[in-house]
Amino acid sequence: MSDSFQAIVARAQEDGKPRAGLETLSVADLPDEAVLVDVEYSTVNYKDGLAVTGAAPICQNLPMVCGIDLAGTVSESRSDAWRPGDRVLVNGYGLSERHWGGYSQRARVNPDFLVRIPEAFSSEQAMAIGTAGYTAMLAVNAIRDHGVSTERGPVLVTGAAGGVGSFAVLLLSALGYEVAASTGRPETADYLKGLGASTIVDRADLARSARPLEKEVWAAAVDSVGSTTLATTLAQLRYDGIVSACGLAAGADLPATVLPFILRNVRLQGIDSVMAPMGRRERAWKDLAALLDPDRFAAVHQLAPLSQVPDLCAAILAGKIRGRVVIDVNA
Ligand code: NDP
Repeated sequence: MSDSFQAIVARAQEDGKPRAGLETLSVADLPDEAVLVDVEYSTVNYKDGLAVTGAAPICQNLPMVCGIDLAGTVSESRSDAWRPGDRVLVNGYGLSERHWGGYSQRARVNPDFLVRIPEAFSSEQAMAIGTAGYTAMLAVNAIRDHGVSTERGPVLVTGAAGGVGSFAVLLLSALGYEVAASTGRPETADYLKGLGASTIVDRADLARSARPLEKEVWAAAVDSVGSTTLATTLAQLRYDGIVSACGLAAGADLPATVLPFILRNVRLQGIDSVMAPMGRRERAWKDLAALLDPDRFAAVHQLAPLSQVPDLCAAILAGKIRGRVVIDVNA
């Protein structure tokens, strides 16, 4: 394989904000980590949108190869844990923040960050799931671990037509839950029903100023939106309910009261995918392999080449991406 390769690199600009574009690098430019990976796929996540456009200070060191996840094949390894030919993926662990990431044809990676791609998935399918699907699995596992059975009532997914939301709908319906999908895009209703949602909730019903306690509706929820949507969801949780809070697509604020906690015993469970311990990651990928039929999530993703990453990152911040975008870094 050639020594030079393509990557999306963020560099400081004159206005002080880093922005990223396509560059040619050589293997000698890569950081000194023990495992060299021939990257095959990465993905576009909301955080990638922030990093690549410079909309938020995601990249803590510059220059930075962006891309918070990757899948590929080990080509060289100084680690006893990994051998050439192993199929691997990385989610988070500071990729695109403190460590060079997946928008690159080659990557040197800390061996402790690597997860083996489950046999059930190709590397493209692993990235169709990607950080969004893995985060959705962490969120759904928090609901299962809280003891929410399928008889307890409907489970709400907010930001449902996005990446995390789409996989949360798929996973919850695969587990037999009745799923209500909240979206601001009514045109995605058929798509969401195809993933397993039984009802569609208008985003505006939740993105409003909530009363401290409202009618009890949801046994549980996966929220990728935050702000007033999360506050309304808390006010509508049934007794002993739980919301897995994993995102902030509408904002990082939380204009809520403590009443749902002290009168309905509800739980607000934070979900972090970036620094999740390895055992939690491995469980999530094992569960994804057991629950997801690749034919069913084929509709969730589209493929795009590395050169389109900047445009796709602007589109995800504008809320214009449905489901997942997988980047074929060699296209
Ligand atoms: P997407 O952009 O794919 O999905 C976000 C969805 O949120 C959109 O599709 C839209 O859904 C909804 N949305 C967007 N803007 C608004 C708004 N102003 N008000 C209400 N709803 C809105 O992003 P991802 O799925 O990749 O990520 C979702 C969130 O989860 C992000 O905030 C991201 O940072 C976070 N995240 C967190 C992780 C963690 O470790 N905790 C890991 C991965 C992601 P619709 O069109 O259906 O209304």
